[in-house]
Amino acid sequence: ANIVLSVRDLYLYYRTRKGVVKAVDKVSFDLKRGETIAIVGESGCGKTSLARAIIRLLPRNVEKFDGVISLNGTDVMKMDEEEFRKRVRWQKISYVFQGSQNALNPVIKVGFQIAEPLMIHKGMGKEEALAEAKKYLRLVGIHESFLDRYPFELSGGMRQRAVIAMALVTNPDVVILDEPTSALDVITQANIINLLKRIKQEMNISYIFITHDVPLTSELADRVAVMYAGQIVELSDADEFYVSPKHPYSEKLMASVPTLRTDKKLEYIPGTPPSLINPPSGCRFHPRCPFAYERCIKEEPPLAETSKGSLVKCWLVHEGKR
Ligand code: SF4
Repeated sequence: ANIVLSVRDLYLYYRTRKGVVKAVDKVSFDLKRGETIAIVGESGCGKTSLARAIIRLLPRNVEKFDGVISLNGTDVMKMDEEEFRKRVRWQKISYVFQGSQNALNPVIKVGFQIAEPLMIHKGMGKEEALAEAKKYLRLVGIHESFLDRYPFELSGGMRQRAVIAMALVTNPDVVILDEPTSALDVITQANIINLLKRIKQEMNISYIFITHDVPLTSELADRVAVMYAGQIVELSDADEFYVSPKHPYSEKLMASVPTLRTDKKLEYIPGTPPSLINPPSGCRFHPRCPFAYERCIKEEPPLAETSKGSLVKCWLVHEGKR
């Protein structure tokens, strides 16, 4: 029903001097129209690689890039680079990459930078594109007089709004937001989240929201996907997830972040995120999992549905012990 983006068995491996990095290792999920999926996990778990695989901005040393990415029913993985660039990237799927508020061109006026995707990807003339840019500037809560300003004349929060306007201006189906508020102070962060929420409702747009900051997602996410060592280990409805995360790693992740609502003691997750070159056997979380037992070391658990409708990749859950 109304699925915009469907990802099936997506792989992205790349070569390094130390070996093949399995950054995205058989990832599947669906994204509905108007829905936000938060993709959470520690750094180095493959979140950004997943984003880059979806919008096909790949490293040069790709070893394996495979799977199905179907956008409005069309498998875009079958398109060659030329067709993908013309029809999909920035038009149908756009991407606010990490730190992008600092990547605006310092010598080009903000309005022109927002208008540019329309000229490049939609063949619009300059006047028409600038008129559109003005609309989107207003949409993100910036006064249109800023059209003629340079990036340095904007605050960090305003630059981030401008970058969001750039991602929206082509009216895409899906916007991928990679740590979109990480460089901002808490108040500005909250303002950006509220902005994204309002735009989502007004434009019925779908977001993939990538972050290591789990509580940040709670205002925006409809579902939460937890990534660990290149794989999704839990995919749950947000309401369910924030109250009772199912996977032991999700639970640790939740307990390791401060929240405003409780004053409980912060835990930390023991050990370090696993190598993506030689991931642990069986369940990749087993070296850090307090519940690990025999089976976890030997056999990889499937990502399977629980009675609550969540998908979880854990033997303990599948054996009904949790
Ligand atoms: Fe822990 Fe085993 Fe579940 Fe992995 S499968 S999360 S090691 S209990």
